[in-house]
Amino acid sequence: MKIILTLTLLIAYTISLAQPDRWQQHVDYTMDVNLDVDTHQYDGTQTLVYTNNSPDTLKTVYYHLYFNAFQPGSMMDERSRNIEDPDSRVKDRISKLTEGEQGKLYPTSLTQDGESIKFEVVGTILEVTLARPILPHSNTTFNMAFKGQVPVQIRRTGRDNKEGIDYSMAQWYPKMSEYDYAGWHANPYVAREFHGVWGNFDVSLTLNSRYVVGATGILQNPDEIGYGYADPIKHKKKKSITWRFKAEKVHDFVWAADPDYVHKTVQVPDGPKMHFFYQEDSVTTETWPQLMGIAPKMVAFMNQQFGKYPYSDFSVIQGGDGGMEYPMATLILGRGSYAGLMSVTIHEMFHSWYQGVLASNESLYPWMDEGFTTYASNITKAYLTNNTADPQQRGYGGYYYLVNQNKQEPLTTHADHYNTNLAHGIAAYSMGSMVPAMLEYIVGKENFEKAFRVYYNTWQFKHPNPTDFRRVIEKETGFELEWFLNDWIGTTHRVNYAIDSVYANGTRTKVVLTNKGTMPMPTEVYVTYNDGSSEIFYFPLRIMRNEKTEFGNIKHTLVSDWPWTNPTKTFIIEKLLGEIKSIELNRSKRVPDIDSTNDSWQNR
Ligand SMILES: [Zn+2]
Repeated sequence: MKIILTLTLLIAYTISLAQPDRWQQHVDYTMDVNLDVDTHQYDGTQTLVYTNNSPDTLKTVYYHLYFNAFQPGSMMDERSRNIEDPDSRVKDRISKLTEGEQGKLYPTSLTQDGESIKFEVVGTILEVTLARPILPHSNTTFNMAFKGQVPVQIRRTGRDNKEGIDYSMAQWYPKMSEYDYAGWHANPYVAREFHGVWGNFDVSLTLNSRYVVGATGILQNPDEIGYGYADPIKHKKKKSITWRFKAEKVHDFVWAADPDYVHKTVQVPDGPKMHFFYQEDSVTTETWPQLMGIAPKMVAFMNQQFGKYPYSDFSVIQGGDGGMEYPMATLILGRGSYAGLMSVTIHEMFHSWYQGVLASNESLYPWMDEGFTTYASNITKAYLTNNTADPQQRGYGGYYYLVNQNKQEPLTTHADHYNTNLAHGIAAYSMGSMVPAMLEYIVGKENFEKAFRVYYNTWQFKHPNPTDFRRVIEKETGFELEWFLNDWIGTTHRVNYAIDSVYANGTRTKVVLTNKGTMPMPTEVYVTYNDGSSEIFYFPLRIMRNEKTEFGNIKHTLVSDWPWTNPTKTFIIEKLLGEIKSIELNRSKRVPDIDSTNDSWQNR
């Protein structure tokens, strides 16, 4: 009896460890939408069953109406015309949109459990005053009729993009804002990030039957469509046709439509079925089949190295501008080189891990999304191209550039509020990718990689924040990491270690190191001798409460720890000065040392 009880407790404890307690709101959307391909206008109905799993009583709710950003004078337009380094794809283009080219999205009616409720469209946000508050642990049903107009393609979404794709339908429907332990996240859309509520989508899209549609989720009526999973459909008889898609446990729904799409599929063994939608031309008939060829190897590696992609399908869809991630799908430009196409597909698909399944709030913590995605993409690209150079060095290059430009802002800055696009871009992608790259250096590569997978498996569908990340990595690696994340994310402190002096001390050699920076890091001193041998002298930070053990095959000596308060460190090499050829700091280049000119010493 006692044994059974202990076992039960143990199992309960294990489950509670694996499943952190973090409540999530829940949405169930049923939408029916008609698109008129002559006017580019659409109207739809939306039934949204909203479950309030929070301990709070909600008196208001907010929806995103992203398409309203594509109107002259919108916040996105103002921001783009006033920021010092506007996105070249946006610039002042929104201000010049004519009536018929603008984006529009607004409800024509809205009820809560059958009762009419008050709502107001305020730019890209719909403010809703509820008829009755939503009590904790209860649900309510919103019924909305809405109208929209697809903007000409400006950024990510819209019609008639530069590659001739008719409709890239991202951020196109009234979407409930996220409410979580930190409150509402009804951020106005000024061109950057997205955050959403997980739930289930059942979407019926009716449009001209000449069009082929790719979307989030799984097509429910392939027989009716005559989809065939091989050729574009030809429905000569009917003028319009309805495509019905369902997706479960996703926080957004994207679709794209074009009469010239071909649709091809590749089944990844033990992985998702990959769908490819693109227009065939002299370029894409070369590059897309190559991409389809490498897809199984690519996705198998991603699953094995970073944790398993949890959905049954993934669609790579030509559309948009550049590349953008959505649940179970991506919209990417399709006419680039094969290398570019592969690279963007890897990056956007990896967002399924960090933006789709973990879905940290990208506005608040863009480094946990773009950064981790970039880090994982770099490793995967290097694997697929057999490139043995350090795949993470590009991130470091970006960081040094930002420091030299004097534009750095702390990574705690809200994504929309960086003063420049440059600072946001390098912070999110480069400095973000350097978080795991530096952690590999600090705790050891294998130690980190295992912990990173545990993080992914632990925090799926829970919107982890930086503290959640830190706790998993600390627990799994045995290192204290508060010092690292606080300095790197919360400040603009910089690392700068130097070799101060090297001199003979009897039959031995004395080395003095200095810390000239404002952010500490563990130090590895790489010494090469004249006989061709080399070794590493290692100084962990006392504050880490642990030491790295992975140094590859090279001889290494743990000398003593180096408290961050101490500006210098002196140590002895048990060799004559004349036996030493060179001494080098930061040989791995994984320390973001802003001055490499004082990192090496040559015996002359
Ligand atoms: Zn990205």
